[in-house]
Amino acid sequence: MALPNISHLPPSFIVAVSLVTSLISIVGQLRPWPPTLPQGLLTLDIAGEVLLDPDATAGFSTDFGCLARAAPAAVLRPSAPDDIAALVRFSYSSPQPFAIAARGHGHSIRGQALAPGGVVVDMASLGHGRADRISVSFDNAPLVWYVDAGGEQLWIDVLHETLKHGLAPRSWTDYLYLTVGGTLSNAGVSGQAFRHGPQISNVYELDVITGKGEMITCSHENKSDLFYGVLGGLGQFGIITRARIALEPAPQRVRWVRLIYTHFVSFSRDQELLISMMDQGFDYVEGSLLMDHTLITNWRSSFFSKTNSEKIRGLAAEFGAIYCLEGAVYYHELAMASRVDQKLHLLLQRLSFVPGFAFTNDVSYVGFLDRVHDGEVKLRSMGLWEVPHPWLNIFVPKSRIQDFEVGVFKGILMPNNSTGPVLIYPMIKNKWHDEMSAVTPDEEVFYSIGLLRSAITDDWQDLDNQNDDILGFCHREGIQFKQYLPHYASQRDWKNHFGRKWDTFVEMKRRYDPKALLSPGQRIFTSSLTDHV
Ligand code: FAD
Repeated sequence: MALPNISHLPPSFIVAVSLVTSLISIVGQLRPWPPTLPQGLLTLDIAGEVLLDPDATAGFSTDFGCLARAAPAAVLRPSAPDDIAALVRFSYSSPQPFAIAARGHGHSIRGQALAPGGVVVDMASLGHGRADRISVSFDNAPLVWYVDAGGEQLWIDVLHETLKHGLAPRSWTDYLYLTVGGTLSNAGVSGQAFRHGPQISNVYELDVITGKGEMITCSHENKSDLFYGVLGGLGQFGIITRARIALEPAPQRVRWVRLIYTHFVSFSRDQELLISMMDQGFDYVEGSLLMDHTLITNWRSSFFSKTNSEKIRGLAAEFGAIYCLEGAVYYHELAMASRVDQKLHLLLQRLSFVPGFAFTNDVSYVGFLDRVHDGEVKLRSMGLWEVPHPWLNIFVPKSRIQDFEVGVFKGILMPNNSTGPVLIYPMIKNKWHDEMSAVTPDEEVFYSIGLLRSAITDDWQDLDNQNDDILGFCHREGIQFKQYLPHYASQRDWKNHFGRKWDTFVEMKRRYDPKALLSPGQRIFTSSLTDHV
């Protein structure tokens, strides 16, 4: 269709018409203009991508945790990173600045991706499943493979796209329906972290939109303060729109083992032995606490056959709590199956699990990495996925893990009847770059403890009280833990959390988001930045 010739019309008339058009598209959503947003938003080119209607904002008012609820005034559905930059620049230069939260897949627990009264950026609209937002390349001399992935991309899509080239990222999370920007704002940990570090240790370069609306490409060599600040920076310094992630040749198959222990000392000793073996040992090491009831509705329980589940349940009933070490050996289809068997056999010989309680599966690499999704499908069908999740994740130094076991696994959790996995596995501090914002305990080896419990009987407050008991126990016993995916109510707690990194964190906020616009749901900079000295 030919466009009408408007060159004879006065510019003021054209501006007025375009303002009214935007107004119609927004006001047409039948909601009074929110008092927290400046009306000048209507004059921006992105006005048509701003949604105000309650149906749109309702979907961005809570998260996977189902514990926090706060509506944004609006949602931005950007079609390109420039649209996000325009929104941030507008807020930054406005006499009435408003908060902006990037929302990845909303898998936070405590409202970290909410923007009460502000604007939530629905990162997904940049292009989930858009192949052109995931691109594999390499550098010569030395040969380095990497993938450039949009911050909104789900790790499952990154996996499928890189596999087309026979490659894959080397560090993962247990669950792949999380976004690149969301996990890099935290750390991204799983059973590969002892070898390769967390996901944030496997990034070469980032495109970031700062809290002033600048679009900056940063790396170890260029703007390294921003690069390291954003990695584990809880969304405080910028919105990640692209990450360049390290790749390795992808294996095709995985020998996946679970070994049962009745004593925590031998369980943790074996885990520590395995992570010290690096590439001579397993490619993946995790572990969990098993109590009788946790075997039933647990999204990690599909591994065991019915008969084996019964056998393990019997042991759990006898000992109250038992431990399951989980390991994996990756291999290529061309490798001799007998060599893999031999490696596994030699490894198992060195470990002290209960005789007769070693269980093995052989699965595809994708099936292994995407294992939690099966559990999700199962729980969704039972109506047990969209329930409150009062999760607690902490890093506990190795020197205090036995005390933690006695006080928490054998103490606070013992009479507990909740469902959901309790993960326990060690990681190595020197795989975490110290300049990154993410914090870990001050010991070379520390344990990741994940109490990933679901409240299926309206008992989330009880579970959360128990979380407080666990934190209280650690404080009383002087266990120098760090929260992962942290959540604090007071400024003093945040300062303690970041410890010696706090001053840098505040300085970075002043430099890159001086009006504290970004990721308000983390509740770190809740008052003026001058209060944070
Ligand atoms: P969101 O929850 O949407 O956002 C998280 C935070 O990051 C918010 O503050 C948000 O504003 C900010 N943010 C989002 N996108 C960007 C961006 N592009 N740039 C800057 N800031 C941004 N974590 C692990 O480390 N290992 C695991 O094995 C693991 N397993 C999980 C399993 C399940 C079932 C669930 C629900 C979560 C799991 N997580 C795990 C936690 C996960 O890493 C966090 O939920 C994380 O927040 C990523 O989720 P998301 O992509 O949905 O981000």
